[in-house]
Amino acid sequence: MPLQGRFIKKQYYCKDKTLCLVSDILTPDQRHHNMVAIRSTSTQPELKLRLALWSRGYRYRVNDGRLPGRPDIVLPKYRTVIFVHGCFWHGHKNCKNYTVPKTNTEFWVAKVARNQERDQEVWRQLEANGWNVIIVWECQITKATINAVVTKIEKELRNNRSSYMLYQEERKKSRAAYLEERKRKKNIADSVTAELSH
Ligand SMILES: [Zn+2]
Repeated sequence: MPLQGRFIKKQYYCKDKTLCLVSDILTPDQRHHNMVAIRSTSTQPELKLRLALWSRGYRYRVNDGRLPGRPDIVLPKYRTVIFVHGCFWHGHKNCKNYTVPKTNTEFWVAKVARNQERDQEVWRQLEANGWNVIIVWECQITKATINAVVTKIEKELRNNRSSYMLYQEERKKSRAAYLEERKRKKNIADSVTAELSH
């Protein structure tokens, strides 16, 4: 059956949680709507990874818009964010899922390069704020491999947790030192004021 003439309504949940109907044959406006809806929906590999982490007892936030790049999974206790990258869109090197299309090649190469640049920038910003960044590629999340991936993530989380605790300890100490110093200065100021008022 030719595509034209078929008119199937599909349901998408949009960013503002309203249910939208988008037809299969799209006007540019609908296409935009559609893309936005797809972007705000979690992918299958992402859901699988989340489920695996959850079942091992990890708790996290999802798609946190307050952080650069809106990370897919945020584990504040471990000061760690996880991105689940689509192999094509983010240009997974030497991956069978990343083959440059034969038509419009230049366009796709440029698009993926832009995505990679953005990924680098997001990574830089997160690390500058003390976040550890883990990238998981979609092709790494299969029935056969997911357990090994999660075990690797767990190991990294443990490391990140201990360095985060050290960092917090250091911060606590320097805050205590700062308060001590402020108290000392205030005492000096008070005694000077007391002397002057005599
Ligand atoms: Zn891949």
